Amino acid sequence: MNDSDLLKAATLPLLNWYAENKREMPWRLNPDPYRVWISEIMLQQTRIEAVLPYYERFLRELPDVVSLAQVSDDKLMKLWEGLGYYSRARNLKKAAGQIFSRYGGKLPERAEELRTLAGIGDYTAGAISSIAYGQPEPAVDGNVLRVVTRLLACGDDIAKEKTKKSVADALRAVYPSGKDASALTQAWMELGETVCLPNGAPKCFACPLVGICRARLAGRAEDYPVKSPKKQRRIEEKTILLLSCGERFAIRKREERGLLAGTWEFPSVDGYPTEKELCDRLNAVGVEAQSLAHCGESAHIFTHVEWRMRWVSVVCLQKSEGFLWKTAEEIAHGYAVPSAFRYYKRCVAALAQSAKN
Ligand code: SF4
Repeated sequence: MNDSDLLKAATLPLLNWYAENKREMPWRLNPDPYRVWISEIMLQQTRIEAVLPYYERFLRELPDVVSLAQVSDDKLMKLWEGLGYYSRARNLKKAAGQIFSRYGGKLPERAEELRTLAGIGDYTAGAISSIAYGQPEPAVDGNVLRVVTRLLACGDDIAKEKTKKSVADALRAVYPSGKDASALTQAWMELGETVCLPNGAPKCFACPLVGICRARLAGRAEDYPVKSPKKQRRIEEKTILLLSCGERFAIRKREERGLLAGTWEFPSVDGYPTEKELCDRLNAVGVEAQSLAHCGESAHIFTHVEWRMRWVSVVCLQKSEGFLWKTAEEIAHGYAVPSAFRYYKRCVAALAQSAKN
């Protein structure tokens, strides 16, 4: 059997398996294009369990393209707080504006049109087009690449774009349309998420493709997929400053571009300066410190960089300019502070405790 016949032969067992085994997900109850779009963007680089509490709340607050296009940046960031990769949220809003102006507020059906919208690449375009509209378009993410390369015993490097493209082309050539397209896209994803697992541990005994999977038949399922190693992440050391004055803490807004753009942060300096160096640097920007104390360390991993953070509590003599001074409660409820800075809550709790003692 050639590759194309093998992919075709996988369709029916996959559809049958999916009908029996699919997990209930909120975005599967009513797969309208807006809901599918929001779910697919949220699920990029984020686990399903982490997305669930965000999804319904987001749809309650922003139920359609118009409300998303008109939402304030601060509210949007707050709704996204903790999900990470904040550019996804900003692109959602930008794309909502594009959908409104170009398509009268309705997401287009065809993948080529969807791909022209902010934040929508091949994968998301294929997912919306097939799941919501039944178009014969595959959606190839890491899960699908893994299953397909195992099924075909394909040794091409899945880290390369051309492998992703050739897998998408091969699937598209044998894709059904209508309800089957919608179910098939989800079936490939579901199989990768629940059965054909990564890191050498596929549950072939539970797989509907076990009888035709070349890698499995050759006893080599764990040799696939082939993936070239990623570049090592850059390590950045930072000292995060919890400047306080009475019950208030200093926060500031990050730049509108780049990592964590538009979210709120605690001031920081690069590296781990000594106490004396830190005092000098604070003085230079008009912050008069009454006392400094270390209050722990945390780390946060982004795609290409890892932050290793030392937290220092700085009790200030006065509220210096250039920051917003807010209570911990106001920060928690009114400002989108990304999880990279979530450690502040522990520091604040520790400070409150030591003030009591
Ligand atoms: Fe993956 Fe095993 Fe199924 Fe092949 S038989 S697709 S390796 S789970």
